[in-house]
Amino acid sequence: MVRVLRSPVDALGCTLFPAFCVLCGSLLPRLSSVPICDACWAEFPVLSGPVCARCGDTLDGAREAGLCRVCRLAPPPFVRAVAYGAYRGRMKDAIHALKYDRLRPAARRLGHMLAQAIAPLAADVPDGLLVVPVPLHRLKHAQRGFNQARVLARAALEALAKSHPQWRLTLAPGALMRLRATGSQAGLAPRQRRLNVRGAFSVSHPAAVAGKDILLVDDILTTGATARAAALALNKAGANAVYVATLARARREGFFRLSPSADLHPELFTSAEPIPSQEQRSFYIDH
Ligand SMILES: [Zn+2]
Ligand SMILES: [Zn+2]
Repeated sequence: MVRVLRSPVDALGCTLFPAFCVLCGSLLPRLSSVPICDACWAEFPVLSGPVCARCGDTLDGAREAGLCRVCRLAPPPFVRAVAYGAYRGRMKDAIHALKYDRLRPAARRLGHMLAQAIAPLAADVPDGLLVVPVPLHRLKHAQRGFNQARVLARAALEALAKSHPQWRLTLAPGALMRLRATGSQAGLAPRQRRLNVRGAFSVSHPAAVAGKDILLVDDILTTGATARAAALALNKAGANAVYVATLARARREGFFRLSPSADLHPELFTSAEPIPSQEQRSFYIDH
């Protein structure tokens, strides 16, 4: 009898939620299929303040035309990158947990956050977008069992279908291929990141992307090396324009230590800004 009474609760407990928030470890107050507590959701850092109109990096001061140094010196092969939040705190924890499969049930809510970042692009590209998640290499995909970028893209499109029913967004998860099993970008210096992803992407059917406006989706954008490599491949295949949307944006700042030197494009810099060295500049250009 006891067993009969307990079993439905046990079943719910096992299938619907672990009893504790996966991010902070506190006891969840109610049954939920999403194992994140309300306090943690409230702590997700939203991007605020001025950002670069091109790559979305946080800008420190007032900038002419709203572009960061990197975009002024070496414009990226995408038109604009948008993100929902800053890659730190709970956001960082959640993305890590999503990748390692403890957070699949939270993907829908994370996808809704991504949808909020994508929504303003409807003004730029009202006719619609072909949505291409940044792919994993097939070996990594097999190992992980899913691609977090694709999971987020699908959830974001679900939300946008409700909020923007007229906007044509088509998921094309097979449009881009990852040719090499690149190692993780985490912990790599900018130059290593660039080399790690250079030529890593290819378009499987160029006719599918030719002339299209593309929205590249990923979980996080850091130096932009991955987004640049993927956008280059799409542009080569004849894409009309590439936009980028990520759930989170890390500040690029920590990846660069600019020192005054050289005389490259001095007109691009205000007198208060140091001019990058040849090596730094080649990073911008190649990246
Ligand atoms: Zn929590
Ligand atoms: Zn920028």
